[in-house]
Amino acid sequence: MSPAASPDAGPTTGAGRAADRPRGRYAPSPTGPLHLGNLRTALLAWLSARSSGSEFLLRIEDLDSGRSREKWVEVQLEELRLIGINWDGEPVRQSERYDLYAEAIERLRSEGLVYECFCTRAEIREAASAPHGELPEGAYPGTCATLSPSELEERRETGRPPALRVRAEAAPFEFEDSLHGRVTGRVDDFVIRRNDGDFGYNLAVAVDDAGQGITEVVRGADLLETTGRQLWLYEQLGLTSPRTWAHVPLMLGEDGARLAKRHGAVTLEEQLEAGLSAHEVASALLGSLGLDQSAVEALQTGDPAPFNWASIGAADRGKMI
Ligand SMILES: [Zn+2]
Repeated sequence: MSPAASPDAGPTTGAGRAADRPRGRYAPSPTGPLHLGNLRTALLAWLSARSSGSEFLLRIEDLDSGRSREKWVEVQLEELRLIGINWDGEPVRQSERYDLYAEAIERLRSEGLVYECFCTRAEIREAASAPHGELPEGAYPGTCATLSPSELEERRETGRPPALRVRAEAAPFEFEDSLHGRVTGRVDDFVIRRNDGDFGYNLAVAVDDAGQGITEVVRGADLLETTGRQLWLYEQLGLTSPRTWAHVPLMLGEDGARLAKRHGAVTLEEQLEAGLSAHEVASALLGSLGLDQSAVEALQTGDPAPFNWASIGAADRGKMI
């Protein structure tokens, strides 16, 4: 196991640093207890990182100031400990890194890559329902990208605060995912700062993963489509991107829908109350992906055997335990 290292929460301009040492991470949002799907993703991220001798960092993604709660940070860290996950250094918090995100936005702005968007949710929904070239379905079609100076002035005068979007011009992206193979697409004009002032998810994640020298990202398949946006940001900001990506299956309930409260005992606490040990829960979670007992034992030794993504079959969509 790696000795405890202090994760570098410093400047974002860390080009090249990612090559120094392999690093994985898990980045939960403190908006409630971790449900079993979150825990399974955390287990996979930990197994993959530790089996290759990588450091493993935690990042608290508390960007959403309306929904994040301090008490959930403690609960989630305890849940991760209970299930057998350890990490290096102190968890980094996004709420302590606003200066870095603002700096990144200024850099993009100075390159002419940012514009103000005054659209309401309803307007975006309406506009996004129409097809627009090569962008994915539902993408923001760039309504505010071409406002004239007088139109811009008119909208500013309404007093409605704008969101900030990037001018991505449907740039193509491509990356290799450990489970999905080659992934290609186009980058839409995504939000980097919401109109309530909160920083955008993709901006923060790209700044953080680069700043922390993360080399491997393991996260839920629902985030597969965000990777292209983050790759675009790494390039525009001159940051080193992670080298490997694995977007792991979401955990589903017996009805095939994404695991949620209505499916019953979906948190670790509920499973423990139902009489299972944390070790049994970990075993069931990894077993639901077809992983064998050696992976579970590694949670106790802290030293997993080499981990192969190919051992997760496409058919293993993870039934509820
Ligand atoms: Zn707009």
